[in-house]
Amino acid sequence: MQGCVLTGVWVIAHECGHHAFSDYQWLDDTVGLVLHSFLLVPYFSWKYSHRRHHSNTGSLERDEVFVPKPKSKVSWFSKYFNNPPGRVLTLAVTLLFGWPLYLAFNVSGRYYDRFACHFDPYGPIYNDRERLQILISDAGIFAVTYGLFRLAAAKGISWLICVYGVPLLIVNAFLVLITYLQHTHPSLPHYDSSEWDWLRGALATCDRDYGVLNKVFHNITDTHVAHHLFSTMPHYHAMEATKAVKPVLKEYYQFDGTPFYKAMWREAKECVYVEPDEGSHNKGVFWYGNKI
Ligand SMILES: [Zn+2]
Repeated sequence: MQGCVLTGVWVIAHECGHHAFSDYQWLDDTVGLVLHSFLLVPYFSWKYSHRRHHSNTGSLERDEVFVPKPKSKVSWFSKYFNNPPGRVLTLAVTLLFGWPLYLAFNVSGRYYDRFACHFDPYGPIYNDRERLQILISDAGIFAVTYGLFRLAAAKGISWLICVYGVPLLIVNAFLVLITYLQHTHPSLPHYDSSEWDWLRGALATCDRDYGVLNKVFHNITDTHVAHHLFSTMPHYHAMEATKAVKPVLKEYYQFDGTPFYKAMWREAKECVYVEPDEGSHNKGVFWYGNKI
């Protein structure tokens, strides 16, 4: 329960990063820094990489995260683990540790020519103008970690695990799941630079249904297409915007109402790699496959 509510808090911090929380950039950044640091997310570091995800969605070369591999580069791992026990293990590791692994080691992120880490101000993800803010984000994480350490010393480690550790793991798991399912679906294409453009990428996203949790998550689950079209829009307008864009986008609007636990299983099974479209004119359009 706390995990779900904290995921809602996470969503507000994400919105601060899009300058969608208030009219004042400093207020957005202050609230975002406090909320995200509390959830051990480096606020500015992720704000910048997340913005780049929004500018490059669906691009095989430049999207920041959930970038699928071509068939030729699929690892031995995918081959031997795409069976029920392997999938349970992969999903468990992805949901429990995927978020920190992405932040620290760029796991499932785009290709960089050297080691990429969200905590490293001098890493390849950031430019000179951003480096100071990456340090500030690190300081936020450090301060919260120190506070947690003091709390553990005062109240005991098991108390901290129950009150903070487990809810945080639930937040991380939902976050990875929500974003994974928004950008991974058997009928969503990816594009290389010959075919990619911003609008095509923004429309290669999918709205999902989490039942009662839609509300708890401030509807980021079922309004993601609209979020990619209008990312500075606050979450409380996103449902209205989604209703308005549906009749305009018609078949270009993607929604899949499969329950999330079923969708997670199906996508993990079917979306293993991407390969070019069969049609000779569409060499830069890629679709998911799983036949290794
Ligand atoms: Zn976003």
